[in-house]
Amino acid sequence: MLTMDEFIKTCREKGLNVTYQRMVIYKSLMQSKNHPTAEEIYHMVRKEYPSISLATVYKTLETFAELKLINKVTHLHDMARYDADTRPHHHMICIYCKAVYDVHDERLNRLPLPDVDYDGFQITGYSIQFEGVCPACSQKFQRKASS
Ligand SMILES: [Zn+2]
Ligand SMILES: [Zn+2]
Repeated sequence: MLTMDEFIKTCREKGLNVTYQRMVIYKSLMQSKNHPTAEEIYHMVRKEYPSISLATVYKTLETFAELKLINKVTHLHDMARYDADTRPHHHMICIYCKAVYDVHDERLNRLPLPDVDYDGFQITGYSIQFEGVCPACSQKFQRKASS
């Protein structure tokens, strides 16, 4: 994750104007650990910037993702989720509520890449998605089963 200063510096290097609006959007994503959707970020940003629109938040997040300032987590989700943590890491996703948890495990960053030539396809990275049931959902199901 970039600090606010690094964020500003990286934006400038990539030729993106650093506006107050963009800073507020990045800050909201940075402070949120649960891989929020554009709409969730919009609700956070609106507290500081009431005149902002959902379309602007969405467009800004997409720009950030294109410039690799943030990551997009889309597996299993019909709506894009965003992640300010751009270090190599992996995710655990609850198959019921779709909650996303970060997985930081050095061993997973050292997997051998497939030794196959897919017509010159160049692999630039990978991320692993573990699927399962989160603690909240497994509790819910246990309660249902016992009542
Ligand atoms: Zn869950
Ligand atoms: Zn993540």
